[in-house]
Amino acid sequence: MSTENTSDQLFNTSVKILTDLIAFKTISGEDNSSLINYCDEILQKLGATSFKTFDDEKKRVNLFATLKAKYPSDKKPIILSGHTDVVPVSKGWSTDPFIATVKNNKLFGRGACDMKGFIACTLAFAPVYSQANLDRDIHFSYTFDEETACIGAPILIEELKNRGVKDGICIIGEPTNMKIIDAHKGCYEYTTYFEGLAGHSSAPHKGVSAVEYASKYVNKLIELREKLKERSPKDSIFDPPYSTLSIGGIFGGIAHNVIADKCHVNWETRPVVKEDGVFLNAELDKYVNEVLLPDMKKIFPNSSILKKIIGEVTGFDRDKKSNACEFVSSLTGDNTREVVSFGTEAGLFQEIGISTVVCGPGSIEQAHKIDEFIILDELKKCLNLLEGIKKNSIVN
Ligand SMILES: [Zn+2]
Repeated sequence: MSTENTSDQLFNTSVKILTDLIAFKTISGEDNSSLINYCDEILQKLGATSFKTFDDEKKRVNLFATLKAKYPSDKKPIILSGHTDVVPVSKGWSTDPFIATVKNNKLFGRGACDMKGFIACTLAFAPVYSQANLDRDIHFSYTFDEETACIGAPILIEELKNRGVKDGICIIGEPTNMKIIDAHKGCYEYTTYFEGLAGHSSAPHKGVSAVEYASKYVNKLIELREKLKERSPKDSIFDPPYSTLSIGGIFGGIAHNVIADKCHVNWETRPVVKEDGVFLNAELDKYVNEVLLPDMKKIFPNSSILKKIIGEVTGFDRDKKSNACEFVSSLTGDNTREVVSFGTEAGLFQEIGISTVVCGPGSIEQAHKIDEFIILDELKKCLNLLEGIKKNSIVN
């Protein structure tokens, strides 16, 4: 069989698998076990060993599967990593978002680019790895609930630590048009709940307005936002160069003439360095415990302020000398490095010492949108990268 036929075959298999993957409605927060079992089955048939980690309800699953080296060497193992969840769909799609549809060299469907396209390529290529004389392990890492502030990956990372997996090269196939991304900010999301005492608006001194205390809290956040700007690192690679903070919404109150007993604030921060997140939370907690709460409790002792962490996606820091980036560069010939404004699981792998790069097929432009698609050529580029990895992972 000629090379061209093989690559055509691999491409067709990728499209077939991507079609299957899109049909699993793995919206974040929902059961993804059918998709995980589908992937596990493909890999196990090829001789991979695997383990799963779960959420508390055991409904949502991470898979970590390994094709072992036939000729173990000191080469670092490769981790091919993708998230299996997709964002919800809104009305207005031209096609059924869960039925892959090919039109004009594009494949449409929820998750086509973010990021089932990458997962499909890795699964299509797995038989090639399994038949090759691998001199390093190839891991397949498929996680749940990345889109809701990386809830799944930390559970897998814990297990990797337990198993002593703390070295390697990780490629996270988020849609970057196969460009090499080596950094992004963190993304921390919070909801802060205020509870005071309801009452008649004609006697504000007898109640505790949750809305008013929430306003003071928001003012404090805006004040701290300026402090974050002052803390901007000199050599920041990000735009804007400092940690940002944004108030997403304030919800509270029922009527003009009623003192609101409940209010909550949605807000987020995107730290350029971890220390900014620590600083911000410490300043905020201090303000709450030393100023706001005592004030509220003077009138109503059961008043409360509760900050709930929705998610804290770890930032991905640029490494001056990154094994992962250099490895991908050596395969693709692309020596550029870029930063992105979206968050990924990269920082989590990096934190346990695994050299990580974000590089995958498709464009973030089409992610999370109506009529999400991936240009089919992108799958071919991704398969080329996987082929390069094979050439670099076999005994000659
Ligand atoms: Zn994604």
